[in-house]
Amino acid sequence: MEKEQGFGTKAIHAGQAADPATSAIMTPIYQTSTYVHEYPGKHKGYEYSRSENPTRLALEQNIAALECAEKALCFSSGMAAVDSVLKLLEPGDEVIASADLYGGTYRLFKQQYERYKISFKFVDLSDVDLLRSAISKQTKLIWIETPSNPLLKISDIAAIADLVNSRNILLAADNTFASPYLQNPLVEGADIVMHSVSKYLGGHSDVIMGALATKSESLAKQLYSIQNNSGAIPGPQDCYLVLRGIKTLHLRMERHCANAESIAKFLKQHPQVEAVYWPGFVEDDGHEIAKRQMRAFGGMVSFQLRNASQKETFDFMSKLRLFTIAQSLGGVESLCAHPASMSHASVPKEERERQGIKDQLIRLSVGVEDIDDLIQDLEQAF
Ligand SMILES: *Cc1c(COP(=O)(O)O)cnc(C)c1O
Repeated sequence: MEKEQGFGTKAIHAGQAADPATSAIMTPIYQTSTYVHEYPGKHKGYEYSRSENPTRLALEQNIAALECAEKALCFSSGMAAVDSVLKLLEPGDEVIASADLYGGTYRLFKQQYERYKISFKFVDLSDVDLLRSAISKQTKLIWIETPSNPLLKISDIAAIADLVNSRNILLAADNTFASPYLQNPLVEGADIVMHSVSKYLGGHSDVIMGALATKSESLAKQLYSIQNNSGAIPGPQDCYLVLRGIKTLHLRMERHCANAESIAKFLKQHPQVEAVYWPGFVEDDGHEIAKRQMRAFGGMVSFQLRNASQKETFDFMSKLRLFTIAQSLGGVESLCAHPASMSHASVPKEERERQGIKDQLIRLSVGVEDIDDLIQDLEQAF
């Protein structure tokens, strides 16, 4: 039997045979809404670009290969991808989700889907026992984010899959923070993996896109039909940009992870830092699980300033020069964010603080710049 290709080889080649029309080595941007029938009903498999587009298909096949899935589907944003998973549910169903969830996902659940009589429980899913006791007869979907945002807590995907598999409950994993290079939730037993492609997959902060992938033929069919019915598809130009971005995903992730490790260690020994959240520390609660289910510990680091007011935290952030203050993550450039006032502003303050998302917490998306410059930048801001 032929040995399965390595990640880098798949990143560069999967889904991307030379263009059948011209043998162009790069997948062309098929900027077309419709396709010609040779004779009514006789066509080459493409009819209308909401339903299928060759540039999008190449990207979907590429992402499917990276996530060890049968099928991947791309959406106009990460949120459109989450939305499409929720559309598998029916009124009366219940979802159990990670407590420190991406703010936009929390908002979608609470503001949109509660109105449609779907209920939500938010549980610390790094503790499988808490999940076990939260499950009810109505539970139809578990939504996990690991590492989580912004505290980088780790959930044991295989243990959760074991718990829910026999109970007819779907397990969906938001794999945005890890990227498929570091972690493959489907291999661990999840049913659906979701990405905000806007982050590491795109990798250059120039595209908004989402993706879902699954091994199950029946889920793939249902999700395709939701994609086609609801129409939240990305355009071919964006698909091309992401195909281009993914070709260096493995190279970028290696540097993101190495830089993040150096920064986590630098912050850890700094007297003005109260706490550092990074799953690579041996004493981190999620370390053992992260070591097992991830290739490395990721490019994100969060930390809490010691004895700082919110104003002093903001001042620290504004002194940074290389770490730009911005929403988002996963691009080649380093960013810093203030979760309490940015991504998690819609989570009530009390709930936020209970989860440990304090006003002194800063989240770094560590880019692929030279590490000495990044550390120097943090040093001068203290
Ligand atoms: C950004 C993000 C999303 C939402 O994706 P968009 O592409 O911005 O719609 C969902 N989950 C996580 C973890 C994210 O970081």
